[in-house]
Amino acid sequence: MERRNLGKTGMEVSILGLGGFHLVELSQRDAVSIINHYLDRGGNYLEAAEGYGNGNSEKKVGQVLKARRKDCLVASKSMERKKKDILLSLEGSLRRLHTDYLDIYFIHCLNRYEEIEEISAPSGALEGLEKAREQGKIKYIAFSNHATPEVAVRLLQNYHFDACMIPLNYYDRFNFPGWEKAVIPEAQKSNTGVIAMKPFADGLLWRNWQAALRYTLSLPVTCVVAGTNTLSYLDGDINYLQHCIPMNDEDREELYRNAPELGTYVCRQCGDCLPCPEGIDIPACFLLEGEWDRQMKDGSIRDPGEYALRDRLRFWFGNQDYPQEAYKRLAVNASACTECGVCLHRCTYNLPIIEKLKLVHEKLTDTNPPVCIRIF
Ligand code: SF4
Ligand code: SF4
Repeated sequence: MERRNLGKTGMEVSILGLGGFHLVELSQRDAVSIINHYLDRGGNYLEAAEGYGNGNSEKKVGQVLKARRKDCLVASKSMERKKKDILLSLEGSLRRLHTDYLDIYFIHCLNRYEEIEEISAPSGALEGLEKAREQGKIKYIAFSNHATPEVAVRLLQNYHFDACMIPLNYYDRFNFPGWEKAVIPEAQKSNTGVIAMKPFADGLLWRNWQAALRYTLSLPVTCVVAGTNTLSYLDGDINYLQHCIPMNDEDREELYRNAPELGTYVCRQCGDCLPCPEGIDIPACFLLEGEWDRQMKDGSIRDPGEYALRDRLRFWFGNQDYPQEAYKRLAVNASACTECGVCLHRCTYNLPIIEKLKLVHEKLTDTNPPVCIRIF
């Protein structure tokens, strides 16, 4: 399997990393079989987290590491933000993974501004991880961020992380454009390695998985980490990557136009609908909707399976308060629409702009909004 350099770490990482989240759904025997198969086929990056099944995923990876530690790079993650707590968390990970060191250790799900200060303060998580690095328990310090590109940029500016992990896929690029436009360039400035997660947008892109993998690996990233729960899916991914060629601009445009998941609901942020006579910044409203629920709820139920999947994924990331606050600050919000219809014929993606604006206003002014179901 092709390997790429991970920024300043100098580590050579296979372009497909094996994520540990889905291992919690498997029996010990099946998990071990998948991990061994991945390593046998040339993969070398295993990743887990303390939070995946409260150590369940790490224990499964650990069974393989007993015999194959030298064959791979191993990463894990902690949700702790304080020195004492993260060091305890690390000890637990090392024990469950049956290793005395990790190649990369992530501060997990670092999504909020206030956490930047918390991890950087005396006795914060970073002080703890520097101590762990001195002791040889970890080699490199990293963070993952799932929901807030602007916080990720601040993190990269505030501390010399060795790597970061961020969601990159052709669906969420329209909800969180900052991943590609701001976070990757900021990481490149300091040669911080970029690891991509969520290439399939948490499963939403299952119909188009080849295009999804190809899209993400065409970005300037070291590898894409994907979970799998069957050997046949894993083989499918690896076989496909053997002859996958990078996308060019034309390929990307075609994907944005035709991807069924984007369809006639997700705003492509082209700006062609402007100007609105009432002064509504239409794409800005839809961008906040993207931050809010990834533009997953369009108000209709066409296919119950698809509806259930979207309903499960729409608040995957949390942080709904940020777009609600930003919506309050708009000079003119979606409720100013007079339904004149001027914008409709300008949108080549045929978005139902008027109806969508009504939904946006409802979502972003909800005083008792749905809560985050899951944070990973
Ligand atoms: S329909 Fe609404 S959003 Fe579109 S141009 Fe008219 S006022 Fe603006
Ligand atoms: S023209 Fe359509 S896709 Fe483009 S910004 Fe406006 S609403 Fe979004």
